Amino acid sequence: MIETTTYRARLDEEKATLENELQSVGRRNPTNPNDWEAVPQEVGQEADPNDRADLITHFEDNTAILKDLEIRYNDVLAALARIDAGTYGVCEVSGEDIEEERLNADPAARTCKAHLST
Ligand SMILES: [Zn+2]
Repeated sequence: MIETTTYRARLDEEKATLENELQSVGRRNPTNPNDWEAVPQEVGQEADPNDRADLITHFEDNTAILKDLEIRYNDVLAALARIDAGTYGVCEVSGEDIEEERLNADPAARTCKAHLST
């Protein structure tokens, strides 16, 4: 049985950080709290066509950033769920224990070193 206290603390901390970052580029989907969507910045009355082009580019950047953050956020939530379920630190592929070294490097790791690429 793996000691999860430290990993849980690190995952909780990362979850809070990710939520702050997600909120800076997006908002929770009102109909699906597990989903996030990018939000464009407010367009003011004074916006000229050049400014609008900048905003569209900015929105596309936010969408890409949000997607990466969301993937990581879901990994962190899944790891916390595994701690609650008592299955934390078990490789999703082989069912063997994940190396402590690997969990220290990434507490949200889903697989052991041998199955890193999956
Ligand atoms: Zn494995």
